[in-house]
Amino acid sequence: MQGPLIDTLALHGVSRRTFLKYCSTLASLMALPPAAGVAMAEAMAAAPAAAKRPSVIWLPFQECTGCTESITRSHSPSIEGMIFDMVSLDYQETLMAAAGHQAEEVLRKTVEANKGQFLLIIDGSVATGLDGAYSCIAGRSNLALLKEIAPHAAAIVAMGSCAAYGGLPKAKPNPTGAVSVSDIVKDKPIVNIPGCPPIPVVMTGVLAHFLTFGSLPDLDKLGRPKAFYGETIHDRCYRRPFYDQGKFAKTFDDEGARNGWCLFELGCKGPVTYNACATVKWNGGTSWPVESGHGCLGCSEPNFWDAGGFYKALSMPANPLRMAAGAAVAGAAAGVAVSFANRAKKKDAKAAHETTTLADLEKSEER
Ligand code: SF4
Ligand code: SF4
Repeated sequence: MQGPLIDTLALHGVSRRTFLKYCSTLASLMALPPAAGVAMAEAMAAAPAAAKRPSVIWLPFQECTGCTESITRSHSPSIEGMIFDMVSLDYQETLMAAAGHQAEEVLRKTVEANKGQFLLIIDGSVATGLDGAYSCIAGRSNLALLKEIAPHAAAIVAMGSCAAYGGLPKAKPNPTGAVSVSDIVKDKPIVNIPGCPPIPVVMTGVLAHFLTFGSLPDLDKLGRPKAFYGETIHDRCYRRPFYDQGKFAKTFDDEGARNGWCLFELGCKGPVTYNACATVKWNGGTSWPVESGHGCLGCSEPNFWDAGGFYKALSMPANPLRMAAGAAVAGAAAGVAVSFANRAKKKDAKAAHETTTLADLEKSEER
């Protein structure tokens, strides 16, 4: 296997074997058949070094630059970072050298030269208040830019929870009238990659899929790639055995916390949060928030800023059926289990566990 990417990887000390391993891991993370890893490797290795690389335009709207930080500061030199060598990242305000009129000219020319073919990445929400005047680039509102450029894109990636759902800018009282990309654009394929910020490998996984197969991966009902958002944090959390035994830390420095017990009672939103943190982890697979001792905040779910408080335990049953069984063995947790079991009488507990979302929690908090 030869190609410009293989040469670039070699320059950075990354062997062909490591690259193949990366591609097969990516394929497996995305629940693709084993042959897809080889197809990805071949497609990416064969990508032309210049000129004909797929064009990508990345527009930052109402955002904090955390999504860009997440991608560019993942771990360096990274294969993920180098995958960006396979696309032509023609416009990205934080990373590009051009500025002012020069930059705007690049944007105009890129759209013109790649109509119907470029990938449009948006991070940040779209301000709609005062006709979009709260957030402008070069004198044009984000709203106007999106309406002007989106129709010419092949597909759109809404990067981060702000672009996917409105995020922090949309939190109450939403002074700028922030909305998501999909609230504005209705006639283009859109993939949501939520997270505050999103995990780098999820972004590059979607890019690799687009480059290999020319299409976006399978999406769930919230427009997220099923491969990365198909399971909850709770489904794959290494603290789960403690949850099942009814062993919960009560404070961040008690004996339970020191023993690595479940953080449910400290507000962990893992049971209702779909993301890959527990399997992919962060910082090159070093660790992830729950492993560092903090509960999941639910950052990849809609309205997580408003949904019930970061340190407040979910008001839903925590899966009382298993909890009750665990509590029968672990007598110390019996009181908790009875309380949850009583609440479970109102509706089927297991169904609640599987279908309750942070949005539902937000509504229940308002009642
Ligand atoms: S509630 Fe949180 S800490 Fe506990 S098992 Fe689930 S995801 Fe892990
Ligand atoms: S653990 Fe939860 S809050 Fe933290 S990054 Fe992952 S999904 Fe977001």
